[in-house]
Amino acid sequence: MAKVVIIGAGGVGGVVVHKCAQLAEVFTEITLASRTLSKCDEISDAIKKRTGITVKTAQVDADNVPELVALLQQEAPKLVINVALPYQDLHIMEACLEAGVHYMDTANYEPLDTAKFEYSWQWAYQQKFLDAGLTALLGSGFDPGATNVFTAYVAKHYFDEIHELDIIDVNGGDHGYPFATNFNPEINIREVTAECRHWENGEFVTTPAMSKKASFTCPEEVGTYDIYRMYHEELESLTKHFPTIKRAQFWMSFSDNYLKHLEVLGNVGMTGIDPVEFEGNQIVPIQFLRALLPDPASLGPRTKGRTCIGCVVKGKKDGKEKIVYIYNTCDHQACYQEVGSQAISYTTGVPAMIGAKMILEEKWLQPGVWNIEQLDPDAFMDDMNQYGLPWKVVELDNFSLTS
Ligand code: NDP
Repeated sequence: MAKVVIIGAGGVGGVVVHKCAQLAEVFTEITLASRTLSKCDEISDAIKKRTGITVKTAQVDADNVPELVALLQQEAPKLVINVALPYQDLHIMEACLEAGVHYMDTANYEPLDTAKFEYSWQWAYQQKFLDAGLTALLGSGFDPGATNVFTAYVAKHYFDEIHELDIIDVNGGDHGYPFATNFNPEINIREVTAECRHWENGEFVTTPAMSKKASFTCPEEVGTYDIYRMYHEELESLTKHFPTIKRAQFWMSFSDNYLKHLEVLGNVGMTGIDPVEFEGNQIVPIQFLRALLPDPASLGPRTKGRTCIGCVVKGKKDGKEKIVYIYNTCDHQACYQEVGSQAISYTTGVPAMIGAKMILEEKWLQPGVWNIEQLDPDAFMDDMNQYGLPWKVVELDNFSLTS
């Protein structure tokens, strides 16, 4: 059907390329480009072995807009799938506008020098994408991504109006390392150490990072885990696009061990994002830490257990209060068998492939900049079932998260 350029040969990039290659009738040609060509070649070789499909590779610095434009003009894809880092989002959007290519990503733009997550920078491109007749799809991973589509789906099919949203992300997997992150360590630690914001009666309320803890028992015997309230970018777009939501919170599971390491690293300054001088060189502590920690793409063979990510939504249907829980569980080792990756990269990469498929099949092809929940959820939800992330909906009699 069409050619895509995938940018970013990391943990998520590897899954996206695998899943696109499995659907050769939709993704007729694939080019994988990243800063380090050897990483692209490694992924391409693995895909050749698994699927027989040839994935072209290229080296690109996605922060260099002219270099990106030249690559896009040479490859002439219909769509760019951006799974590099959030710092590159605006540069890749600029290059897409210049080369006349549709755009999608899995994480909102973050400036390198401020740990700040908001959509304003990308929403500011609305008029430019409208004028160019191009689509930009934002946040097509799992969270953001599937969780937004889950919310849109239950709002459409189960409620007249939704009032409360709790997004609960549990990773019940164990990789056996004392400390490692399941996706890019720098982005992960910036997210986890940021102040918490949740939506309460029409505004965001700020509380200290990790200051609210609860316990959550997952379905399907995934287990009971400590979860912590934190800020996550989909809260901003979901409360904008579903203005009847009175309270929205995001929760993520962390082990005591992870939090103990993070506290010590924070206390000694290793999670800092401001440069420090070391033996005549300027180094950014969190970037140095990233170089020491295991590469998330290497966790696949060692990670055992399951993830359970979903949304509890409260609202009204036909005048009656109602509670719905919609979720997916995903097994780390099953992901590894299929695409050679752990479940965090898998649960991000599959929705990225599906979002791209929606654009290429012209189901979600409309000029402008769109958060994923603004588009009709039904075809995406069908594809989640078909391509590796089956979901379930259960109606609950009551729900509360207690400390
Ligand atoms: P990785 O660090 O494993 O991979 C990032 C890749 O981007 C690397 O291969 C890196 O190249 C490449 N890259 C970085 N800078 C540039 C640049 N200037 N030009 C070209 N390539 C560049 O990260 P992940 O795969 O774990 O995460 C990828 C994205 O997915 C991130 O934006 C992350 O926030 C997002 N994500 C979203 C989730 C969701 O559910 N929505 C969940 C998890 C992740 P090199 O290796 O050569 O340095």
